[in-house]
Amino acid sequence: MSKEKIFMPTVEGIFPNITSARLAMARRTGKVSPVQGGCWFCWEKDDKLVFDSEFDTAVHVKCIRKVLAVEPNHPEANIMKYLLETPKSGG
Ligand SMILES: [Zn+2]
Repeated sequence: MSKEKIFMPTVEGIFPNITSARLAMARRTGKVSPVQGGCWFCWEKDDKLVFDSEFDTAVHVKCIRKVLAVEPNHPEANIMKYLLETPKSGG
């Protein structure tokens, strides 16, 4: 077989304790993995992404809010929570 094993991170691999809500977000169409510049949570890539320096990843502020809403003690979301307080640029 010519099928090579390539590094393909999955949401489950990144978040071993993934919640169904987060999985549902990630399974939307057109997803881009975080290593490819997509959002850490929803794997979508657009101009609303902000950069999280804690995990070196792009993320949506709205996604941090969404995750915290369903899982207030979510570890990564809590670390990224500081981004919620970042003032919008050009606003
Ligand atoms: Zn997102």
